[in-house]
Amino acid sequence: MTAISKILIANRGEIALRVLRACKELGIATVAVHSTADANAMHVRLADESVCIGPPPSRDSYLNIHQIVAACEITGADAVHPGYGFLSENAKFADILDAHGITFIGPTAEHIRLMGDKITAKKTAVELGIPVVPGSDGEVLPENALEIARQIGFPVLIKATAGGGGRGMKVAKTEEELEEAVSTARSEALAAFGNDAVYMEKYLGKPRHIEVQVVGDGAGNAIHLGERDCSLQRRHQKVWEEANSPALNVEQRMKIGQICADAMKKMKYRGAGTIEFLYENGEFFFIEMNTRLQVEHPITEAITGIDLVHEQIRVASGAGLSVTQDQVVFSGHAIECRINAEDPRTFVPSPGTITHFHAPGGLGVRVDSGVYAGYKIPPYYDSLIGKLIVHGRTRVECMMRLRRVLDEFVVDGIKTTLPLFQDLVSNQDIANGDYDIHWLENYLAETSAT
Ligand code: ADP
Repeated sequence: MTAISKILIANRGEIALRVLRACKELGIATVAVHSTADANAMHVRLADESVCIGPPPSRDSYLNIHQIVAACEITGADAVHPGYGFLSENAKFADILDAHGITFIGPTAEHIRLMGDKITAKKTAVELGIPVVPGSDGEVLPENALEIARQIGFPVLIKATAGGGGRGMKVAKTEEELEEAVSTARSEALAAFGNDAVYMEKYLGKPRHIEVQVVGDGAGNAIHLGERDCSLQRRHQKVWEEANSPALNVEQRMKIGQICADAMKKMKYRGAGTIEFLYENGEFFFIEMNTRLQVEHPITEAITGIDLVHEQIRVASGAGLSVTQDQVVFSGHAIECRINAEDPRTFVPSPGTITHFHAPGGLGVRVDSGVYAGYKIPPYYDSLIGKLIVHGRTRVECMMRLRRVLDEFVVDGIKTTLPLFQDLVSNQDIANGDYDIHWLENYLAETSAT
């Protein structure tokens, strides 16, 4: 067992603060790293120590492995928490930390690599007994595309092997559209990832995005913490997430959860992970696994009472999981709204200075945000400035609370996506839980036309 006494948080914004809070609770010293643009950030102010690792662009600071390793050595940090994004799914980073005797709070580099390549991830999922979308066994080339597409059946989706953020993805509805879809997907993949390999899947028409939270101890024990429904997306970016999914009953939840937990046991997976599925007509289809903490993890924490960052730190230090599957109790319903510094209709980023900030409170309310009145949002990074998480005993109670809480939230000086959530919380389809992955885009197109 490697006791961890000082954690360097290799991230910024709300997630850096989120990780810092867990470290403080566990009595572990913290090191913040920051770019010159983030010297006044809340996580920097609250950390025990801080190190400036470079100028604003991420590649020179938050993605600069040398600087981060040097910051560990200067401060004597014995572990790194990568948060999400940046270096969180970078296997090379995990290897380098390992070579320096620094604990990476996450899975093994081998598991990051395995899941980072979409074709290997899908093959692994099949071997582990996880249901996948019907599709090609491996890479699709222009010369074998038609034969494979006929076997799968149209419509098909061409996806980049190295994919991420929905790039390099093309739908072919008919045989006529196939050749062009394959060639555009290949060139987009090459431009975005430096790798033109693509594969093919059956295109699902009206799926929901449902993902299962897992945590493993790296020694063959693993549990699931239920699912999250993240179907409300814009340009493949999640906007509103809920746990549990309004589409599943208890039996379905426990069944897919168990399949995922068993797969993680077989793999001897270490740390927190998320197995993402598309769900249509009662069936689950694996799309990918994220080998890190997700933005939307707090809704799982709300319905289970389990602190996922505590669990990550525990397993990284060899202390194992704090609970067994039987001890996990699901209670009530939680919704997360991602608050972005963006125009709520056009989604154009709105950096600037926050003049007033008032976070809502009361029973069942959590706000994860590093911003404050007077804080100047730098223009260099993701526009997520905070997350509002609301919990209720039932979905109806959760929605009632969310409506009240949104009215209390004040962020002045910049535009935010808060007004969008005020619209969504009053919408009948949302109230009924009746939406798929296309719902939000359709809604935005319809409401902006009027
Ligand atoms: P990325 O890593 O680029 O985000 P994913 O495989 O996670 O790619 O897919 C991103 C999104 O694309 C999904 O959330 C879903 O909205 C859509 N998608 C992916 N695969 C399919 C499919 N087979 N059928 C329909 N939609 C899909």
